[in-house]
Amino acid sequence: MITQAQARVQPACWQQELARGIRDPRELLRLLEVEARTLPERLLTEAPFPMKVPHAYAARMRRGDPMDPLLRQVLPIAAERREVPGYVADPVGDLAAEAVPGVLHKYEGRALLIATGACAIHCRYCFRQQFPYAGSHAARGRWTAALGYLRGDASIREVILSGGDPLTLGDAKLAELVQALEDIPHLTRLRIHTRLPVVLPARVDDRLLGWLGRTRLQKVVVVHANHANEIDAQVIAAARRLQAAGVTLLNQAVLLAGVNDDADALCDLSEALFAAGVLPYYLHLLDPVAGASHFDVPRSRALQIVSGLRASLPGYLVPRLVRELAGSPSKVPVELLPGADVHIGLRS
Ligand SMILES: *Cc1c(COP(=O)(O)O)cnc(C)c1O
Ligand code: SF4
Repeated sequence: MITQAQARVQPACWQQELARGIRDPRELLRLLEVEARTLPERLLTEAPFPMKVPHAYAARMRRGDPMDPLLRQVLPIAAERREVPGYVADPVGDLAAEAVPGVLHKYEGRALLIATGACAIHCRYCFRQQFPYAGSHAARGRWTAALGYLRGDASIREVILSGGDPLTLGDAKLAELVQALEDIPHLTRLRIHTRLPVVLPARVDDRLLGWLGRTRLQKVVVVHANHANEIDAQVIAAARRLQAAGVTLLNQAVLLAGVNDDADALCDLSEALFAAGVLPYYLHLLDPVAGASHFDVPRSRALQIVSGLRASLPGYLVPRLVRELAGSPSKVPVELLPGADVHIGLRS
């Protein structure tokens, strides 16, 4: 049980933790006392999307277990080199949805701002890992083009800060951005898509809570955890602090082979999330990004897993199983998709 007082202790400076993230796969294995030869596939020491893991996250991995579900999410292995038909660089059509540099406007009433390309952790299955951020995040030119776009479209009620991970930006920059968003009268909600409260909970410090607590916008933070072992006491404390600042907390997870592809693992995740005050929101089918085919879970198996969840949890702890289809007006419930398991058959 975390007391109010414990939840208030100022954690170590998050920028230092961010900078000290583990980048050498061999170092991570040494820390975990895992021998490279016991891995399911050869280790990649020079991956094009380099490894990056905060120590706070690595600390939750099991020692001596080459199959640890957290380790699997971050460790580059030879399977990433496999070329599989249907696995492409931009599987969800983000490039085509860019309204102005750094703004994706795919869905009615909501616009997504690519606030930065940086993340605290590099998830091997990430569909944005090959997105050419360098030229297209909104921070360039101090958000001018992005803000102009949002100001000019009164149908947009909600702005989603995404990336990359928007909370890797400093608080001065974020406060300035949120101030500018507040000045747009038709905006009512601010949503932040971030993995930091989970992978680097020290990020949820008083400075962040300062600007977030003050805004007139309604606040939603969508975190990203895929396995119950990701939720430790520090994550719970960070979630409590966000809630105390008036934030509604949701989680999105990705269904990943070898990480969370069974009903028991996802039940445990939902329970752990709710104990931290977080509701499960989406469970995404893997986006078929090049290099991630070893995480794929067939659609039929995914539906079976979610039926299992429904049979053992209250409805509000069952996430919506969805997939993103280029050109679709919303994320698509997997139940409504046409039959094939083959990704290439789903593309419109
Ligand atoms: C996923 C996504 C959203 C948010 O969709 P919700 O169903 O509202 O969670 C908004 N814009 C883009 C471009 C997205 O990919
Ligand atoms: S934190 Fe999110 S955006 Fe960053 S690598 Fe992981 S899944 Fe991708």
